[in-house]
Amino acid sequence: MNKSLTFIENNHKKEKPKTKEIPFGRTFTDHMFLMDYEEGKGWHEPRIAPYEPLTLDPAAMIFHYGQTVFEGLKAYRTDDDRILLFRPEKNFERLNQSSDRLSIPPIDEDEVMGYLKELLKVEKDWVPSFEGTSLYIRPFIIATEPNLAVSPSKRYTFMIILSPVGPYFSGGIHPVTINVEEKFTRAVKGGTGMAKTAGNYSSGYQAQAKASQTGNNDVLWLDGIEKRYIEEVGSMNIFFKIDGEVVTPALSGSILRGITRTSILEVLNEWDIPVTERRITIEEVYQAYEDGKLEEAFGTGTAAVISPVGTFNWNGKQIVINNHDIGPLSQKLYDTITGIQRGRKEDTYNWTVEV
Ligand SMILES: *Cc1c(COP(=O)(O)O)cnc(C)c1O
Repeated sequence: MNKSLTFIENNHKKEKPKTKEIPFGRTFTDHMFLMDYEEGKGWHEPRIAPYEPLTLDPAAMIFHYGQTVFEGLKAYRTDDDRILLFRPEKNFERLNQSSDRLSIPPIDEDEVMGYLKELLKVEKDWVPSFEGTSLYIRPFIIATEPNLAVSPSKRYTFMIILSPVGPYFSGGIHPVTINVEEKFTRAVKGGTGMAKTAGNYSSGYQAQAKASQTGNNDVLWLDGIEKRYIEEVGSMNIFFKIDGEVVTPALSGSILRGITRTSILEVLNEWDIPVTERRITIEEVYQAYEDGKLEEAFGTGTAAVISPVGTFNWNGKQIVINNHDIGPLSQKLYDTITGIQRGRKEDTYNWTVEV
């Protein structure tokens, strides 16, 4: 499996979090995984090394033209102390899809899965055991060739860093308030919306800031052309339950193909709950609300799994769903998926992978 993975041990181990109050994305483990790419040589020198700053040439292409992709998944500690990943092969498959869009050479998905497992074995004590916590896994690739030419880099570094994270919801699930963005666009068909790549996120900060200044937690993006068709939330896909039927926007090329989204579609099918992937406008959602048919709305993603939407703000009109409480379907989906992820519910889908 391995192209002789080397291991350089970190002799200055850090202190691990002692409570479940771990802020997202600011604590990193003792080691990271790295592997380099060079044209003609391919991916080489896989290694687990101490977590430390990188040295890069100021002309490294990542800094100038944003040639980079990333992934996000979690490792969960079960009550009987096993470590589980949730559909991790889907993350490496999607990483390669993102890379393809950004003209980055593909990685060998099986080989990299092996390296991730090795890294997690080294860092297993960093997977926290407090209720609701997990170890966030961030694989990413950056273009490292020093060259200001506007063309794909001939060199890359692939890395995996690990970060213990606290529960997304502390003290019960809180439905969120969402602003429907009318001016800015996240992505258009033919653009990079389906790729997990840096520019898609920094270009959303202005809309995010505007939303939070007006008391919203997040942004709902509409299509870039007609500003009618619903796409997704900041880093979540979106679902609506209207008159007994679940609807989520069809993947149009500008929407990120969420692994949580795919899993929820599979669970709903298994439960024989009608679910469709289709185009849906914001007017339709507001009309369903007026007609008393908008039963639930929720975002889906690795971070929260299910994040119920309590309020939408659009075009000066506010709608409150389900009295700003979590709906029964959202709760059942949340319990099912998190139960499987944490090894508390039987994994009839074969989704979890033990490290
Ligand atoms: C990562 C991400 C999602 C959710 O994907 P999951 O695989 O479910 O975590 C949705 N939208 C965007 C823009 C994302 O970056």
